[in-house]
This record gives sequence, C-alpha cells and structure tokens, in this order.
Amino acid sequence: MKLGKVHYHIVNGIDEAISLNQTHEGNAKYMAGGQSLMPMMSLRLIFSEEVIDISQLPDLKKCFATKERFFIGSGVTHAMIEDGKIEDPTHGYLQHVAQGIAYRGVRNKGTIGGSIVNADPAADWPTALLALGASVMIKTHAEEIETPIGDFQCGLMQTSLKETDLVKGVFVPFLSEKAKWSYVKFCHKVGEFAHSIAAIVIDPELRIFNAILGAAGDKPVLLPHLSKYLSSANIKNADLDKDLNDLLDSDLLENTFHLSSSYEFNLHRSIVKKAVMEALKK
Ligand SMILES: Cc1cc2nc3c(=O)[nH]c(=O)nc-3n(C[C@H](O)[C@H](O)[C@H](O)COP(=O)(O)OP(=O)(O)OC[C@H]3O[C@@H](n4cnc5c(N)ncnc54)[C@H](O)[C@@H]3O)c2cc1C
Repeated sequence: MKLGKVHYHIVNGIDEAISLNQTHEGNAKYMAGGQSLMPMMSLRLIFSEEVIDISQLPDLKKCFATKERFFIGSGVTHAMIEDGKIEDPTHGYLQHVAQGIAYRGVRNKGTIGGSIVNADPAADWPTALLALGASVMIKTHAEEIETPIGDFQCGLMQTSLKETDLVKGVFVPFLSEKAKWSYVKFCHKVGEFAHSIAAIVIDPELRIFNAILGAAGDKPVLLPHLSKYLSSANIKNADLDKDLNDLLDSDLLENTFHLSSSYEFNLHRSIVKKAVMEALKK
C-alpha cells in the first residue's frame, strides 16, 4: 500500500518541532527513522496528514555521561550503537541488543527513541532497557520530565506521552565490572520481530537484579520470583535447572500473559532459562 497525502515538515530544533505540533493540535506525527511510522501510515494503522521530520536534529543525537549514568539521545540509531559510535556503559549489552535488531537497512535508520515510543511488545529496546532500569527524558512544551521506562510503556503500543511530547533520550546506568547480563531472543527468521525475548541484568553493586520477559504480553514484564532469586548470593549450579522450572512456573502463570498454548509457555520458559544460564556463566 502507498502512503496517503501528507504535509512533510523539516524543523531546526526540538522546541520548533513541539510548537509546530501544537499548531496542529497534536495531530502531527514526529518521524525519527520512519521504520515503523511509514509502514504503519501506509497500512492506514496510523492516520495523520502532518509529518514532522526530527531525524536530522543534532540535539536528539547527543550523548553524555553524568556521574552514575549515561544519556543516549533518542535520535541515536541502532547502527550507531552496534558500531560503537557511542560509548557503551553496559560492557557490550547495548551493542549486543542493537546488532540483533532486524537487518542493517532498518538499523541504519531506526532509532532507540522511535523504538520505545512505538512500544511494540516484541521490539528489542523496550525489553532491553527495562532490564537496565533505564528512564526516559520527555520534553513537553513546558518542561522536561524523567520517567522510569516501566511507567513509560503503558500497554500495547501505548506510552505515557501526551500528543505533542517528544522523547529526548534515555538514561542508562554505568554497569559495574561485576555486572552480568544476557539477552536472548527467538524469532523464526532474521529481521522478524521476536516471539520471545529474555533480558537478564545482574549488578550486585548497583542492586540491579532484573529478569525481563518480552514479546509475551502487551508489554515487557519483570519476572518477580526469578528476579528475587537472582539477587541471592548462593545460587547452586546443581539445583539451578529445577529452581528455574519452579520459579518460571510461578512467574509465567501469575502474570496475565495471553499464553494461548503450551507451546508459548514452553517457548518463554526455554528462552528465559537459556538467558539465565548465559548470564550466570559470565
Ligand atoms: C522490516 C522491519 C523489521 C523490524 N524488526 C525489528 C526487530 O527485530 N526488533 C525491533 O526492536 N524493531 C524492529 N523493527 C522496528 C525498528 O527498530 C524501528 O526502527 C523502530 O521501531 C522505530 O524507530 P524509528 O526511529 O524508525 O521511529 P519512527 O518509525 O520514525 O517512529 C515510530 C513512532 O515513534 C514516534 N517517535 C519517533 N521518535 C520520537 C521521539 N523522539 N519523540 C516522540 N515520538 C517519537 C513516531 O511519531 C511514531 O509514532 C523493524 C522494522 C522493520 C521495518
């Protein structure tokens, strides 16, 4: 299908983009990489006659370090992260996630900000960033607001953004040398969205013990029993397989996933188990 008629606007700054959107009563759509927006507009899943191109704004590509965290501008592309063009405060985790997104053409254009705003439950950044305990910097017409990513994504392709709000970027922690992580996703073919994703981040120094499951419900979720287990200092290898089976039975059943089949249940269980084993080996 072809794109309908749109007015295409190029802006010179973040404030100009927001003001322009206000003049259209919030009905304009920001375009970052266009990798989700353009297909969805072409399929008439998103309706808008106004597109504001924010892909060339230098302010949205800015990255900087504070004492404990690293800020990644929303306009940073998956490819920039994959290629190490920005610092990786996570000892390779961000780079690993980026290189597994779709294929290179998509990664050249698609951005970290566009991905989290699109809020597809099977997309990579929403799950990966939740495991890091990231937070999102939102620019409204009046102020800047920082929101934990877990509160930012409200549901299936839904976020806490108001119509004219723009995501400036995300804060992620500098993981300590003791951190362990893994990120495992299952899809039938390269370039497809995942059928299951497990992200594990364990950093005793930062008190991060997160096991996140993506592509299972309407948004990525923390697996509470498993996450608590990962915080215990004496995980015994001999008991690991049984422990994981028990914990995942509880976590998967207690969450309101629409696990329509035992296939899905077993798929998620296998992917999470694989991710835990990989993380603990590091
Ligand atoms: C064939 C194909 C395969 C793909 N496979 C995967 C995959 O395996 N894993 C994966 O994670 N993703 C995948 N994607 C999606 C891809 O990663 C997109 O790049 C991403 O979801 C959207 O990023 P974007 O920069 O292109 O955003 P756009 O498409 O430009 O925008 C997406 C949405 O976010 C809004 N938006 C964008 N930036 C901002 C901002 N700064 N502030 C406020 N609103 C904003 C737009 O208005 C729009 O609603 C795939 C895409 C394609 C086409």
